[in-house]
Amino acid sequence: AGDYNTREILRPLVFRLHENVPEIVREVLLERGWTEFDKKEQDDADWNLVKPWQRLNHYPEAVRITRKDYLARHLKRMKGAYGSALYEFSPVAFIMPNDYVKFIAEYSKERQSLGRRPSYWICKPVDLSRGRGILIFRDIKDLVYDCTVIVQKYISNPLLISGYKMDLRLYVCVTSFCPLTIYTYEEGLVRFATEKFDLSSLDNVYAHLTNTSINKYGASYKKYKEGIGCGCKWTFSKFRSYLRIFGVDDVVLWQKINNIVILTLLALNPLPVASNCFELFGFDILIDDKFKPWLLEVNYSPALCLDCSIDDTVKRKLLHDVVELLNYKQIDAFRQNQVAGIKADGRRVPWSTGGKSATKETPGLLTCQKVAKCASASSAALQAARGSICKVATLTKKTARVYPRKTLTSQLREKMNMPKIPPPAKAEAKNKQLPEDGYSPPKSAQLSRWLPSPDFCNYNLTARPYFLSDNDQRPIPRVGNFVLVFPFNEAALQASRNGTDIKSIIKEISKLVSKQLP
Ligand code: ADP
Repeated sequence: AGDYNTREILRPLVFRLHENVPEIVREVLLERGWTEFDKKEQDDADWNLVKPWQRLNHYPEAVRITRKDYLARHLKRMKGAYGSALYEFSPVAFIMPNDYVKFIAEYSKERQSLGRRPSYWICKPVDLSRGRGILIFRDIKDLVYDCTVIVQKYISNPLLISGYKMDLRLYVCVTSFCPLTIYTYEEGLVRFATEKFDLSSLDNVYAHLTNTSINKYGASYKKYKEGIGCGCKWTFSKFRSYLRIFGVDDVVLWQKINNIVILTLLALNPLPVASNCFELFGFDILIDDKFKPWLLEVNYSPALCLDCSIDDTVKRKLLHDVVELLNYKQIDAFRQNQVAGIKADGRRVPWSTGGKSATKETPGLLTCQKVAKCASASSAALQAARGSICKVATLTKKTARVYPRKTLTSQLREKMNMPKIPPPAKAEAKNKQLPEDGYSPPKSAQLSRWLPSPDFCNYNLTARPYFLSDNDQRPIPRVGNFVLVFPFNEAALQASRNGTDIKSIIKEISKLVSKQLP
């Protein structure tokens, strides 16, 4: 049995991907030193990243917030249950044809009230994406649909940069719903429309929709646009610098966005209980000219296409950070430690991996060299990724029992379980980097990140890979650009354990919101 475990630990991690998986997923896994399954060279037993104990990268229940009509319905329910004060971040929406009468009532009320300018509306098919089938209108005679749609108030006063509309693609990773553990990604994509915003031409998709899938076909996409540049994307870092130049408190904006994320995920209630899943969501957030963030929609499969170098920068690091968040680095290190322990113990190592001892070298990220090509998003790699965590966990747990704890390896293992908090000097230096266009953020802006880590996460040796978790474990406050946003304090942590207490969580969020108000 000892030999079998040793052999298993020393096996390279072999993944297998569906043919539709974006190239960048393959590249990231290869960059991490994993091996791709080769039908000709290997047999099925070598494929060790898809097993019954694998983690999946979707929760079936997530559809409650990722389909436009379900999202509208669940947010409405939360509004009813917990008050509209917290839940007024989503534009009023009607599900058609079911809500037709309600919509007509609202539409007529607006038209009849004197002195009030009638709203603009946007009609979106509930299960389409990438801006397909969208219609913006003001007069009901222009409303046509032939499938289930939502008719939503159109935010007609968006924040414009040099006259262009933009929205944010925010990445959110839920590593567990039970207990609820939410990370938002500090870096992300600002997506621009490529023609100037103009309410007198509602059918110009290049002026009103910010989807890259649409704008990349626009005549202005490749052209240099004053104040924006070429293409249709910025990074969050660049946007943050831009806001700070104009004296906007981006930290407050960021806190509001995080509240939206938490409150939206709570709308999934009853929260999924599956412990073998995680989810990477793409939240679309529109900011209006009063700096109020609005939730437009939640994507369960955010695009991993690489349309430009900004995509490559953001999405490659994102994928690496997702794998890190799922504890892969720790598990790799853990594996290596086991190997080192086995070797030190003089046992036979049947399948050597090159003999690197973890006492000398901790496995890390490999340098990325290639720019990936565009492909559609898929789940298999991350699914596989999470799968191997469990596999390795099972094996290392078994072998760990064979060896006494007080060895060099065990001390190293403890170190591996310590948090990776960058030293302050390093973190500050990172913030001092100038954005691409040479903006120099004001000094105060350089001092903070968008998201301060919750200070209740007093990290200690109990912060270990989740598979070794016990009830006292606290979630890791930051992994790469992922920052823990829930739980955000001790009370929220307690309320998310042993059956999520939504009411108490909402109470804590209300307290937080009232503190955040200027
Ligand atoms: P899809 O899933 O087709 O991308 P979205 O709901 O994300 O649908 O809408 C596509 C784009 O339309 C958004 O990125 C945004 O630019 C614009 N949009 C959608 N809803 C609104 C709204 N209520 N107000 C203003 N703009 C909107």
